[in-house]
Amino acid sequence: MIHPIVTHPDPRLREASRDVARFDDELARLVDDMFETMHHADGIGLAAVQIGVMWRVAVMQVEDNPQRVLVNPSYESLGEPMSLEEGCLSVPGVRDQTKTRSDRVRVWALDQTGAPYEFEAEDLEAACVQHECDHLDGHLYVDRLSTLRRRRVLKRYEQQRETEA
Ligand SMILES: [Zn+2]
Repeated sequence: MIHPIVTHPDPRLREASRDVARFDDELARLVDDMFETMHHADGIGLAAVQIGVMWRVAVMQVEDNPQRVLVNPSYESLGEPMSLEEGCLSVPGVRDQTKTRSDRVRVWALDQTGAPYEFEAEDLEAACVQHECDHLDGHLYVDRLSTLRRRRVLKRYEQQRETEA
């Protein structure tokens, strides 16, 4: 089922999500719905909070990498900071350059059955891991921009929303 995506400035995007404790049909359905919603929106990653579910779950499909289900994920930065044009389905219509994403990360997560696994991600996929983990902590990529850039991109976003309203 495709869900509407929660957009900035919805306060839920600023809350930390809770660890998943039950690996049941409800979680499996959530993961299916998240993939469906993400593909429908042409996204490469989606966190549960973006469809209003406050659990630490994210899904990703970046370039030729496998589909990933990240439940209760954590990561360690292994690489160097990179510059990257970033966007977010919850801040639609604008993008801007972040400069602090690590270009390589090691990720630990559970899958939807509760089985632990780990992998290394690079470049865009590494950035996606960091972006999705930010969502689970109540952060948006715009928080990673300089003050000037953040003001500018949010102003553009608000102007665009006014035009559409
Ligand atoms: Zn996002």
